Amino acid sequence: MSKPLSDHDKRKQISVRGIAGVENVAELKVAFNRHFHFTLVKDRNVANKRDYYFALANTVRDHLVGRWIRTQQYYYEKDPKRVYYISLEFYMGRTLQNTMVNLALENACDEAIYQLGLDMEELEDMEEDAGLGNGGLGCLAACFLDSMASLGLAAYGYGIRYEFGIFNQKIVNGWQVEEADDWLRYGNPWEKARPESMRPVKFYGRTEHTPDGVKWVDTQMGEKNKVLLWQLDATNEPSMNMDSVINVGGYIQAVLDRNLCENISRVLYPNDNFFENKELRLKQEYFVVAATLQDIVRRFKASMFWLQRDCPHRLRRVAIQLNDTHPAMAIPELMRVLLDEEKLGWDKAWDVCVRTCAYTNHTVLPEALERWPIDLFHHLLPRHLEIIFEINRRFMEVREFPGDNDRLLNMAHLCIVGSHAVNGVARIHSEILIATLFKDFYELDPHKFQNKTNGITPRRWLVMCNPGLAEVIAEKIGEEFIRDLDQLKRLLKFVNDDAFIRDIAKVKQENKLKFAVHLEEHYKVKINPQSMFDFQVKRIHEYKRQLLNCLHMITYYNRIKKEPNKHWTPRTIMVGGKAAPGYHTAKMIIRLITAIGEVVNHDPVVGDRLKVIFLENYRVTLAEKAIPSADLSEQISTAGTEASGTGNMKFMLNGALTIGTMDGANVEMYYNRIPELKQAMDQIAGGFFSPKQPDLFKELVDLLMHHDRFKVFADYEAYIKCQDKVNQLYKNPKEWTKMVIHNIAGCGKFSSDRTIAQYAREIWGIEPSLEKIPAPDEKLK
Ligand SMILES: *Cc1c(COP(=O)(O)O)cnc(C)c1O
Repeated sequence: MSKPLSDHDKRKQISVRGIAGVENVAELKVAFNRHFHFTLVKDRNVANKRDYYFALANTVRDHLVGRWIRTQQYYYEKDPKRVYYISLEFYMGRTLQNTMVNLALENACDEAIYQLGLDMEELEDMEEDAGLGNGGLGCLAACFLDSMASLGLAAYGYGIRYEFGIFNQKIVNGWQVEEADDWLRYGNPWEKARPESMRPVKFYGRTEHTPDGVKWVDTQMGEKNKVLLWQLDATNEPSMNMDSVINVGGYIQAVLDRNLCENISRVLYPNDNFFENKELRLKQEYFVVAATLQDIVRRFKASMFWLQRDCPHRLRRVAIQLNDTHPAMAIPELMRVLLDEEKLGWDKAWDVCVRTCAYTNHTVLPEALERWPIDLFHHLLPRHLEIIFEINRRFMEVREFPGDNDRLLNMAHLCIVGSHAVNGVARIHSEILIATLFKDFYELDPHKFQNKTNGITPRRWLVMCNPGLAEVIAEKIGEEFIRDLDQLKRLLKFVNDDAFIRDIAKVKQENKLKFAVHLEEHYKVKINPQSMFDFQVKRIHEYKRQLLNCLHMITYYNRIKKEPNKHWTPRTIMVGGKAAPGYHTAKMIIRLITAIGEVVNHDPVVGDRLKVIFLENYRVTLAEKAIPSADLSEQISTAGTEASGTGNMKFMLNGALTIGTMDGANVEMYYNRIPELKQAMDQIAGGFFSPKQPDLFKELVDLLMHHDRFKVFADYEAYIKCQDKVNQLYKNPKEWTKMVIHNIAGCGKFSSDRTIAQYAREIWGIEPSLEKIPAPDEKLK
């Protein structure tokens, strides 16, 4: 296999990546060498690739720091309305290349690194992912930070700097095994600790009602934090090596046991779309909110509005956006601060709270909705429980809320009542919310309910991860699309332009080749780069229906076996994603996929016409490598269960076609009526894919046949038929590519710039601006 054009060569062609002028390059080399010697204290005799990565990261960081300080000054002087995006997850991935792209430094750095005799891609690969998220919800928070900065909003992301992010997934004998993600082991050049800004966060204790107000006393403190991405003050580093493999159910406990103190910011809970009732998680949720609100109040008191005590604008200088109910405690905590510390009085405090807070819902799955036991809450946060009961009492005049007979606090209800805006994340999802889950609240307060369809940042998810495609697009329509993704519709003019069709197809082929080389180098699997690259990469969950994909794999395999001489469209089906460590069924689904791969990939009759690959350790960095190579994107969740999805948008923007569900058909007795489905099920049940352990998949079979909430059988037939059409279309590369171009041209609305502009105007009450913040050496006008 010949090596494709390197990204070093391709990046050079794109001017948006900055000019590699002689002076810039020389300056970068000086800065690089300075950091190499004086920051890292190394010379070439003892340096390794990681040292070179750190020297480059520090060099690029210097360019960030000046702008960052200038931005702070600018906002201090202008004092605009601030936006606080609070989230338990920020799935940031890597920062080096993203920063170079966003500062237009990439070409100059590339050239400098090249002249220093180093390889940029090798250095970039030394960076650990900041895996502080599970899936779509955390990715969205990361995309939003990018867009809020691009739109010039005075916005801040507040979350927890987990010492261990989402676990690394290893596949051992076909099973998922979790390994702790010790991402800070070598230090993190993209952060600045602020030990001087530590503030207390209290827990436990009791309340005392006195003539001068309520006091929360006898609390336990000891929880300190650092600014922006909050972290507890680590007094000593974990001494044990974190590479050990951790067993299934004990995942969280195993990480905690390494060091008994300072557990709050130790580890990200690895559940996607699932609520786990654990005290430590509730502590994390309160921790981020309490620390954030102290910082908000400090900044607000430093502004001129604080002095104008009766100015009505005073109440409108802050917007808080809650990413799902995870930071719902912002509502009672803000009330506590306003009532007990600022002595505001209930009505005024409540008015401020509701005007300030807004809540985004991310799911309708009942198992994902946060409902905390009142006893636990009372023990940990007694004053907040009183406040919630008071909110409830006042609201009860209208209806029952939020406690129920099970003595559970429904955090979504708390968020709806305490916010002025509630939004879903796609049109259909927002419609479902007001028609079902939040129907009663909608009827009371219809004006609160909105839709904000999710988006992705085109900087990371096109310009950075797919330089070849960005360049082909820029040649046709210029570079404005990077800031204004709607411009992509200008590509429609070129759908019949043969040269353009060829260029788009050529970039895809190069990306496929590159991903095939990556798989061969890192996973020792060989795939056919001429085959259709068919991806389903996302968290493993029953509602996402990786099992429907499995049934297609098996059906296609059986068809090839039945008529081996027919001309079958070659496919490489790749599935990737993590299963929550305690989610047994999801782990069985992974095992089924690897079992199917073991049979299919070694069948000489099939050859390279069908391969089934499980992509180990799917994460942001792997998404950036995989998605540009995709021909087909599988988005086959049961209709009504995936709130929005953002993986779908990344694939579309990178030139893949989508096979997806619009609606779940009625569940009937599908099993006996469809011979190929029956055959596939009999094979799974009969041990065809697990000959050494014939009943390995008994539970999965039982699930699909008798109690599948997610209706896999109901959609099987339509899905297989649609896959047949996909095969036919793939045989006509020109028609395929035309559809790809149509798709890319329609991507405009899926930019998170559009999403954030709508949040800004319709929820936060601010106008996005493209006014440039002055450069570090510029004076304010
Ligand atoms: C985008 C992304 C997701 C979300 O994918 P969905 O298909 O929308 O669930 C999950 N994980 C990673 C690493 C991603 O980049």
